[in-house]
Amino acid sequence: MLVEKNVPLQFSNTFGIVAKALSLVRIASEADIAAVLADPALKSVPKFVLGGGSNIVLTGDVKPLVLKIEIPGKRLHSETAKAWIIEAGAGESWHELVAWTLQNGYPGLENLALIPGTVGASPVQNIGAYGVELQDRFLELDAIDLTTGQSFTLNAAQCAFGYRDSVFKHKSSAGEAASTAGNPGFGLADKALITKVRFALPKNWKPVLGYADIEKKMAQSPVPDGGDPTAQQIFDWICEIRRTKLPDPQVIGNAGSFFKNPTVSNEQCADIIQREPKIVHYPLADGSIKLAAGWLIDACGWKGKSIGNAGVHERHALVLVNRGGREHPVTGGEVMTLAKAIQTSVYERFGILLEHEPVVV
Ligand SMILES: Cc1cc2nc3c(=O)[nH]c(=O)nc-3n(C[C@H](O)[C@H](O)[C@H](O)COP(=O)(O)OP(=O)(O)OC[C@H]3O[C@@H](n4cnc5c(N)ncnc54)[C@H](O)[C@@H]3O)c2cc1C
Repeated sequence: MLVEKNVPLQFSNTFGIVAKALSLVRIASEADIAAVLADPALKSVPKFVLGGGSNIVLTGDVKPLVLKIEIPGKRLHSETAKAWIIEAGAGESWHELVAWTLQNGYPGLENLALIPGTVGASPVQNIGAYGVELQDRFLELDAIDLTTGQSFTLNAAQCAFGYRDSVFKHKSSAGEAASTAGNPGFGLADKALITKVRFALPKNWKPVLGYADIEKKMAQSPVPDGGDPTAQQIFDWICEIRRTKLPDPQVIGNAGSFFKNPTVSNEQCADIIQREPKIVHYPLADGSIKLAAGWLIDACGWKGKSIGNAGVHERHALVLVNRGGREHPVTGGEVMTLAKAIQTSVYERFGILLEHEPVVV
């Protein structure tokens, strides 16, 4: 096992923040994790699991031992009457997995095309886009408890998926063990390393449409017999839409949407609408209302503004960006100062506390 020292992370996080991992071990197999956990000097030290770095803000050099996930592999694991079961290693690129499933005739993940990052991180915040969330296609995952070295498997209920949320985003209370997963209060943040994820892709596939951008694409290139578009067409459209709409981290550093869309009660929403009739809101199945965080931020005048080298994107108020590029990159401190200033002004005007999506390290 090679323990690398002082490893630069600027190109391992999509903000392009300059920071080092004081110690880093590359994890390409379960044996690599076993070696770390058997090492007397490493087994008890705090650890941070790093995938593609597309949902983190580094606020300094990373002192916990960084476990850089590089576990490969994607295959048809099995099939049932209703679904193809696809298994992928945690280190695989998410987008390449989506493309691979389509090339091999297993549709279902196409709406999640072009989301940066790794397969292993996809359950952590239950990634979602264009009407599909990971939990809609998820079967189970394998993970290793970094404190005990024990392997375990979790199904969707045990992952406690929510909107950009799962058991992996919450800290455990002291004393709980991996075997108690499934208890809703249980948290696995910084404790579990996901090694493999299995997806159930339904054989009676139906396209998930209904988003204005997708409808626009359908109108521009109608299917000849008036039928449904194919999964590959939806994949291509979503790649095109995302390329034109979202800032590319290779060009301007960012971590995608920085804040979650907040949910409020019907009464709260009615109260806000009285004061702000134009507020963008969507009713949810449970009777609550989701508000567009980007609209709230824009209404507070943040679009295009900066603090130091941290900026709010000119077109997407929800995306915070690195305005200093690679030469004078933004710091994690600047990003979080800007984030806090935005939270304060949204709270003062609307009484709503925005929650940030990326993990602050
Ligand atoms: C331009 C852009 C667009 C984006 N669009 C979307 C979108 O549409 N929808 C969406 O949901 N997200 C989106 N994101 C956010 C991001 O792509 C996802 O959250 C992605 O799943 C993060 O993967 P990663 O490998 O980069 O994780 P990292 O950033 O490396 O890690 C994120 C968290 O997951 C943990 N983690 C990573 N791998 C593992 C593992 N194997 N086991 C346990 N814990 C692990 C880390 O410790 C950390 O807490 C976007 C980001 C960018 C930059």
